[in-house]
Amino acid sequence: MLLTITSTHQPAGDLGYLLAKHPDRCQTFDLSFGKAHVFYPEVSDARCTAALLLDLDPVGLVRGRRAKGAPTLGQYVNDRPYVASSFFSVAIAEVYRSALGGRSKERPELVDQAIPLQARVEPLPVRGGEPLLRRLFEPLGYEVTATRHGLDASFPDWGESPYFTLELAGTLPLRDLLSHLYVLIPVLDHDKHYWVDKAEVEKLLAKGERWLADHPERDQIARRYLYRQPRLAREAVARLVDEDGVDPDETEEKQARREEKLEEKLSLDEQRRGVVLAALKEAGARRVIDLGCGEGKLVRALLDDTHFQSVAGVDVSPRALEHAERRLKLDRMPALKRERLKLMQGSLTYRDKRFAGYDAACLIEVIEHVDTPRLEPLERVVFEFARPATVVVTTPNREYNVLFEGLPEGRLRHADHRFEWSRAEFRAWAKRVAAVYGYAVRFLPVGDVHPEHGAPTQMGVFTRDGEAR
Ligand code: SAH
Repeated sequence: MLLTITSTHQPAGDLGYLLAKHPDRCQTFDLSFGKAHVFYPEVSDARCTAALLLDLDPVGLVRGRRAKGAPTLGQYVNDRPYVASSFFSVAIAEVYRSALGGRSKERPELVDQAIPLQARVEPLPVRGGEPLLRRLFEPLGYEVTATRHGLDASFPDWGESPYFTLELAGTLPLRDLLSHLYVLIPVLDHDKHYWVDKAEVEKLLAKGERWLADHPERDQIARRYLYRQPRLAREAVARLVDEDGVDPDETEEKQARREEKLEEKLSLDEQRRGVVLAALKEAGARRVIDLGCGEGKLVRALLDDTHFQSVAGVDVSPRALEHAERRLKLDRMPALKRERLKLMQGSLTYRDKRFAGYDAACLIEVIEHVDTPRLEPLERVVFEFARPATVVVTTPNREYNVLFEGLPEGRLRHADHRFEWSRAEFRAWAKRVAAVYGYAVRFLPVGDVHPEHGAPTQMGVFTRDGEAR
């Protein structure tokens, strides 16, 4: 059985340093159950492929086993010497020990760097077929290609075998790729060649440290990895959940809640997103760009709704975008979802071709962050150049501020706000923009409406002339 890992990181030869195996040599390692060979079928500046070939000793396997009772035919005739199973995980751990442990003498800076990698494992027994392969690897951010093999090419009517060639492509640190394979190969096989004891819990927690707690199939992975030891599986899951009890999103949320208590940000924020989503759907928009997406909450809501085929987020702040990537768990996003998403850094006050081609654009709590003299360029970028059929704009209603306790009179809600408009000011601006660029506009309140001061947030929905529904 064979595992090849290809890197197209430049220079590709760095793969040799990361694996601590010289690309010019073919090396052989003696393991208790056979031999492992490492060699490089391909080395150039552009691509480098390292192969790990495991040559199991089928007789040694049987000899090593102290069978209870009479030996069975199954002990002698089985697929173990020929497929990637828990033996293979042991080989990865022994032969690529430093790379799996995240150590590199020569390229320490590359250890945690996400690099473009492809891996191919064959033959891989999969009890659960292609759906299981996808459920295990896609949440980790891989593009998965699974090729199932027939039982025997000469006898096609014998049907399919449980053996696959698995190809993975992704951009991630090599140590993560190795730890995914280390844990998931025996999970797919759902068998272990050795007795599973408490030490296996430690191995699972150590190898899964960077990804397992958040994996949607976490419980099944623990159950299958800790083969036939449900008590240990429960212990592992409990520890994973406990150790990872501090969900970074949750603390962020809490902090945001504290900071934005004034506006009761969470509920108003949610209401705003709800109203925006409804307006987008009503307009029939399927391709949506969120301009000034910040940390990506609307982007996430759009992506979670398959009505929206294509979702883009733009922000001028790289920090906000990093935040968005983390919040969206971009590095682990399934390929199909990832393909619908684009995050880009850019400014709304400069014309940008990438903003065009969407059905709708959103400017949610953004215009008030722009200096008034820069508003006109922003208007042109959005309404003249990008020119989507629908534009949704929200901004605070200054009149409502008197209802916020703890906000001194005349102060704005946020230190970075350049202005906050009354309802009349926002309407005047929106009507002028609509008239200049050929749109119609209607207004909606967001949040609880006060009879005198109106709603905390005001919203304008612009519809390009001739597109009114
Ligand atoms: N729409 C988000 C974020 C609002 S905060 C939400 O509703 O939660 C305003 C965002 O606009 C910030 O992330 C800020 O970085 C971004 N922004 C301000 N001026 C910008 C400009 N000129 N170009 C692009 N983004 C801008």
